[in-house]
Amino acid sequence: MTAYHFEPIGRIHSCFTEKFGIPRQPNLVPEAWATLDILPVFQKAEAFRELDDFSHVWIVFVFHRCYGRPWKATVRPPRLGGNRRVGVFASRSGFRPNAIGQSVVTLRRIEREKGRLRLHLGGVDLLDGTPVLDIKPYLPYADCIPDARAGYASDAPAHRRRITFSSGAERRIAILDAARYPHLKALITGLLSQDPRPAYKGTGDQAAFGMRLWDLNIKFEIQANGMVVTDIETAFG
Ligand code: SAH
Repeated sequence: MTAYHFEPIGRIHSCFTEKFGIPRQPNLVPEAWATLDILPVFQKAEAFRELDDFSHVWIVFVFHRCYGRPWKATVRPPRLGGNRRVGVFASRSGFRPNAIGQSVVTLRRIEREKGRLRLHLGGVDLLDGTPVLDIKPYLPYADCIPDARAGYASDAPAHRRRITFSSGAERRIAILDAARYPHLKALITGLLSQDPRPAYKGTGDQAAFGMRLWDLNIKFEIQANGMVVTDIETAFG
């Protein structure tokens, strides 16, 4: 069969500079903001006419960190604790024959300034640098199916953890530039309450972790009563 060639129309800039900690689906953490910067050749204002009237959009993207890697017929979805295999086509894994993903995200606004066209998004599950192939408006009358069956993923993942911050971490947040790291505390709380630890790799007795957001290293620990954000370092800066 014919092979098809697609070129990205833009690129995602998100707080997620590594995979660990990224929500496993969109909309689970509304504070996960991102921009989608449209490439110059597609910066035609008329191509975005009336898109502002939609609250949500589909983002069709390339799992560029999976691209070119071998795919397997079955995968282990994290929500099954990593110990049950399902068919790749019954999953949303990035390791698929065509490494294409799609996410419904909030369209916060469209910026059209200084010869730039940029979509401001919320609730993303996208790595920084993700190439975007297409944007489509979300249509509730067609896309929202409240009584749909969803097999092993029938409920939203449970929020398992209580999240607290050490006084040191609180102090760091207070002095960090709020424009550069918007609503950082709510973002960290939302991400950690999803429990980002990879179940199937077996974190064993490991109790201390680091999650990278922008150039920050968010250090947290598992304690009896939940997760504690112990420190925030700018070690990657
Ligand atoms: N909503 C999408 C993606 C679901 S998988 C879909 O259903 O198609 C979401 C996971 O993909 C994230 O937790 C992150 O670990 C991973 N991911 C996000 N962007 C990626 C990228 N550009 N390349 C590889 N993996 C990515």
